[in-house]
Amino acid sequence: MRQSLIMGNWKMNGSAESAKSLCNAIIEGLNTGDAGIAVCAPYVYLADLQALTADSPLAVGAQNVADQASGAYTGEISATMLKEFGCEYALVGHSERRTYYGDTDESVAARFCQAQAEGVVPVLCIGETLAEREANETFNVVNRQLDAVIEKAGIEALSNAVIAYEPVWAIGTGVTASDDQAQEVHKAIRERIGAKDQAIADKIQILYGGSMKPANAKGLLGMADIDGGLIGGASLDAQSFLDIYHSV
Ligand code: PEP
Repeated sequence: MRQSLIMGNWKMNGSAESAKSLCNAIIEGLNTGDAGIAVCAPYVYLADLQALTADSPLAVGAQNVADQASGAYTGEISATMLKEFGCEYALVGHSERRTYYGDTDESVAARFCQAQAEGVVPVLCIGETLAEREANETFNVVNRQLDAVIEKAGIEALSNAVIAYEPVWAIGTGVTASDDQAQEVHKAIRERIGAKDQAIADKIQILYGGSMKPANAKGLLGMADIDGGLIGGASLDAQSFLDIYHSV
């Protein structure tokens, strides 16, 4: 039985004050169950969150990580630095990074390896655009994004990683994949991993992301291969985020 994981992605929102109060409201309202819970916050708030979450089950993650270990990479944040600030997770390959900041399959694979080398669990985000879905390219795209990481890191690397299937057309749009649409892709991802290593496939958490809200969470989270959610907009409201968590 895989543990579920509910993870928020705050993106570039909030202020030092609002980040602290959102974090406190989540901790206060949390009835911890078997599922894990985490928030991926902007880098500059990680130190505050590290302190606030120290005695709570709420884990902290970053929204990206550098593809190099250290050196002359102005503006980048290394996995070692994330570890220093208590990050358990780092998103890699979020579609907004791929679309706006030029993250490629190769650089995402390098980020994945950097995170893992420091004991930060990479959350590999993969998913197709609307045009790709309409061109029946969904599985090719998702396979390509997944294979790039497996080629660089090796299949064993997935034994300590999380995957987030996030159809780009569902992110921040209010349009969510149906339960069956999401399950179909999650199952295919698990089967592709299983073709290389069934034990890892059985164990890996595959989260769904894309306009998940309290109203649609129960259906999505009830699907056999959906092990949790990566939640953007709804994670900025403590009650919505907690409602999703408590619906697991
Ligand atoms: C995300 O940013 O990963 C995401 C899923 O956003 P939203 O929930 O707002 O669609």
